[in-house]
Amino acid sequence: MKNTRIVVKQLAFLLVAVLFAACSSAPEGALTLNGQTLSPDWFAAGNTLTIPGGEQYVQTKGKFKNFELAMQLRTQPEAKGYIAFHTDKELVKGYKVAINNDINDPIWWKMTGSLLSVRNLTKVFIPNNTWFDMRIRVAGQHIAVYINNEPVVEYVEPTQPYRIAPNEQTRLSEGILAFVNTGNQPIEFRNIQATALPEEAGNESFPVVALDEQTDPIIRLHQEDFPVLDYHVHLKGGLTKERAAQQSRQTGINYAIAPNCGIGFPVTKDEDIYNFIDSMHTQPFILAMQAEGREWLTTFSEKARNQFDYVFSDALTFHDNKNRRTRLWINDEVWIDNEQQYMDMIVDKSCGVIAEPIDIFVNPTFLPEQMNDRYDEFWTDARIQKFVDALVKHGKALEINELYRIPGKRIIMKAKEAGVKFTFGSNNVTPDVSDLSYSLQMKKECDLKPENMYKPKIKVFK
Ligand SMILES: [Zn+2]
Repeated sequence: MKNTRIVVKQLAFLLVAVLFAACSSAPEGALTLNGQTLSPDWFAAGNTLTIPGGEQYVQTKGKFKNFELAMQLRTQPEAKGYIAFHTDKELVKGYKVAINNDINDPIWWKMTGSLLSVRNLTKVFIPNNTWFDMRIRVAGQHIAVYINNEPVVEYVEPTQPYRIAPNEQTRLSEGILAFVNTGNQPIEFRNIQATALPEEAGNESFPVVALDEQTDPIIRLHQEDFPVLDYHVHLKGGLTKERAAQQSRQTGINYAIAPNCGIGFPVTKDEDIYNFIDSMHTQPFILAMQAEGREWLTTFSEKARNQFDYVFSDALTFHDNKNRRTRLWINDEVWIDNEQQYMDMIVDKSCGVIAEPIDIFVNPTFLPEQMNDRYDEFWTDARIQKFVDALVKHGKALEINELYRIPGKRIIMKAKEAGVKFTFGSNNVTPDVSDLSYSLQMKKECDLKPENMYKPKIKVFK
């Protein structure tokens, strides 16, 4: 037991030093466990604090206002918890930073590093059973969270933050720190260090600025616990991964980055896929494959395709009934003899792509320019039924697409009634990734709930 006593002493000393630095009045330095001063039994060897499952928590007695909290963490499978700051003994006020690396969690949009209900994160950065660094920095109105030294949250609390029950007290003030385990499996912490910061340290923290949350629709999604993911973002038109990440932190919309994969596209062979994944897996993005052309199945191995969190494709590129290569959005490549027959062909081609081993059907229900002014006429009930039946039969999700603002509400409602899952997708062709306005309009009009959204098959790289 000698060892554990030394460990307790070291940790207590560390936090005493920190608390004296952080507060003007002399604080009590001890950590408490569920209100009781921490007993040595809660420590394993090596300066490690283990919080077992079952709503257990450890709190500091002293308060922190502007600070940087750094530590290492390790989670067991299915472990779940959070670190609270500016909180009180009852853990009611202040912010919470999520601890959750469980890719099987049905609530898949609040993973480690999430500033809960304000900036929820969909990416799982760290596998279970692996030590990782986390740092939380709070100064002035600025809150940043880093995982393994990479920023994953940059948030500026505006003068009038938008908060709904039960988050009304998720506000900056000052308060104690708490390390909370809400699951049934242990979470370990080691090398916990906190340092006081001057208030003005926030001003040079990061480039993100405060949004007007009284009008911002994205904070509303986070507050109501709806997954906030743009499932279809391209690094196009000079959009770098760095700029995409920064933009995502500014808007609070998580991004799935999708390279176009196929003959004549940036990714043409397995090796390109592995190189792409290597260059991106520490980045704060879900990774998706856009399968191009109908030959993609023979161009890429199943093993390489499975590196992605999901695969999507569309039916915009095909050979028409006279075997002419058609790209449906290019008028010169669209030859229409009979519009009704052409429409039947589009439905057939769509059902064919839906049967391919993809997860999501994107740019759905697109019509060539010549026919698009009569979209609702061509998409008859019978054709919608055939299309939705194909989605159901093959278990595929349906994209609500920002670029073309499709499908129409009638089709989304039919698909929803049939149990089809949805995604929101920008399909941006310039660096300006969308604000998801069409998706959010359809979410509202069709009353889409979190359970109506597609859950990516998230991969974690060691
Ligand atoms: Zn695309």
